[in-house]
Amino acid sequence: MTKKIAVLPGDGIGPEIVAEAIKVLDWLNSDMNLGLVFENGLIGGAAYDVYGTPFPEQTIALVKQADAILLGAVGGPKWESLDISVRPEKGLLGLRSELQLFSNLRPAILYPQLAGASTLKPEVVSSLDLMIVRELTGGIYFGQPRGIRLLDNGERQGFNTLVYSESEIRRIAHSAFQIARKRNRRLCSVDKANVLECTELWREVVTETGKQYSDVQLSHMYVDNASMQLVRAPKQFDVIVTTNLFGDILSDTAAMLTGSIGMLPSASLDANSKGMYEPIHGSAPDIAGKGIANPLATILSAAMMLHYTFNDIEAAVRIKQAVNDALDASVRTADIYSEGMQKVSTSQMGNAVISALTKR
Ligand code: NAD
Repeated sequence: MTKKIAVLPGDGIGPEIVAEAIKVLDWLNSDMNLGLVFENGLIGGAAYDVYGTPFPEQTIALVKQADAILLGAVGGPKWESLDISVRPEKGLLGLRSELQLFSNLRPAILYPQLAGASTLKPEVVSSLDLMIVRELTGGIYFGQPRGIRLLDNGERQGFNTLVYSESEIRRIAHSAFQIARKRNRRLCSVDKANVLECTELWREVVTETGKQYSDVQLSHMYVDNASMQLVRAPKQFDVIVTTNLFGDILSDTAAMLTGSIGMLPSASLDANSKGMYEPIHGSAPDIAGKGIANPLATILSAAMMLHYTFNDIEAAVRIKQAVNDALDASVRTADIYSEGMQKVSTSQMGNAVISALTKR
């Protein structure tokens, strides 16, 4: 069966790192007969330069008919002075809302070879592999009413609304339980149910949903404790599911446990596991065009795509093992370089991953 992938390299280092991920996917496509078909499109500043909008009709049509999207990054100084409605980042937001990508998966993986890159002690973080599932299209970031109002006493008051309906909680809970099933079958739901009624409902609905997943061990944790536990003993977690706001904060903490932004992939899924896959980092304009960006986060995003959209765990594991083997072979891009290692370019890192695939 043909699997259509919309490829959106975007801006800055986007085209350089996406090229390496496609190289790896192409190789696996031939080796495992995966049936992947690629079609390129424009997004972000690159799309603005051609069409005057960061998310043109052509790209909307392309992502709608695709099974999955592989994205590089958007943005850069060239477009910073544009009106906010046509800035590159609007393209990304448009894509997320157009496809209703409500489930944001942010793994924090620390390869043992890079344990020294973390600010935490190696024994605390070495071989860390946890997944944060963040609700992405609801909660306090979207709740109404919101704003800044003038009180009778002349003082201004800011206000936002934390709101989740049962159906919104249920769909992110299902997504998280299904992800836990593809990993180590442990799910921790993070809330503030002792203080916020909205997350009291969250806890109730997640517990109720869990009855359909008796093979997954469900636990609950308050967000203040979760933030402490993430830094104290992060390896206790397998999958964490949480609200938009808590997920925003906790996923950045988790990402930084690993210390290397160029290594971390992400996915944003809809209700049918159609997804957009991208590295968590931005377009890195400071190093764009130099051929030194780390392509591994994008290559690992491609592995997530095979895993979560195409349910091909074998192919995904092959990519992850090849990345591990490339690191074992001591090749490092500049961002993860340490003494005694071999410093390589973006394309040499891609080649090292392919070379590791051929040897397995
Ligand atoms: P950034 O992630 O692009 O860069 C931060 C630092 O990390 C830079 O020093 C950069 O060189 C380095 N870095 C990032 N990715 C790297 C890689 N793969 N290999 C080696 N080094 C890497 O963040 P920023 O500088 O704050 O933002 C730059 C632009 O990217 C802005 O326009 C911002 O809006 C945009 N941005 C886009 C996304 C996205 O597309 N999802 C995410 C974040 C930022």
